[in-house]
Amino acid sequence: MSDDCIFCSIVAGDIPGRIVAETDAALAFLDANPMSRGHTLVIPKTHRQRVADLSTEESRAVFDLVHDLAPRIEAAVGADAHTIGVNDGPDAGQEVPHAHVHVIPRFEGDGGGPIHVAAGDRPDLSDEELDAIASDIGGE
Ligand code: 5GP
Ligand code: ZN
Repeated sequence: MSDDCIFCSIVAGDIPGRIVAETDAALAFLDANPMSRGHTLVIPKTHRQRVADLSTEESRAVFDLVHDLAPRIEAAVGADAHTIGVNDGPDAGQEVPHAHVHVIPRFEGDGGGPIHVAAGDRPDLSDEELDAIASDIGGE
C-alpha cells in the first residue's frame, strides 16, 4: 500500500468507491468521472505503477477480472461494445500512479473514436523498419 495513493485508499476502504467486483488480488470499481455509463476501473490490490510492474499472478488477476466483467458491464448498462485500455505511464496519459485497466462501455453513435486516436501522428515505417522492430521486440 502506498500512503498517498487514492486507489490504495479505495482498496483499504479508507475512501469510498462504488465497488462492483473483487477477487483476492484485484478490485473493480466505477470511475468517479466516467467517460460513459458503466465506466469501470480494474486494479491490482497491491500498489504497482505500471503494467510491467505487476507479477504474473497480479496480471492474471487483473486481466481475468476484466474478462469476467466486460460482458456483465455491457449487459448492465445496455452497451453495444467496449473500449478497454490502459494509460500505462505518465507519457501515455496516466494520472493515477496505480496501474488500472479502463473498461469503457461504448454505444452506437456515441461520438467517440477507436483506440487508434490514442497515439497521435502515425509514423511512416518501411518494411525493413517494421522487420527490425518485430525482431527487437521478439528478441531475435
Ligand atoms: P488515468 O488517466 O490515470 O488512466 O485515469 C485515472 C482515472 O481515475 C480517471 O478516469 C479518473 O476519473 C479516475 N479517478 C481519479 N480519482 C478517482 C477516485 O478518487 N475515485 C474513482 N473511483 N476514480 C477516480
Ligand atoms: Zn496504490
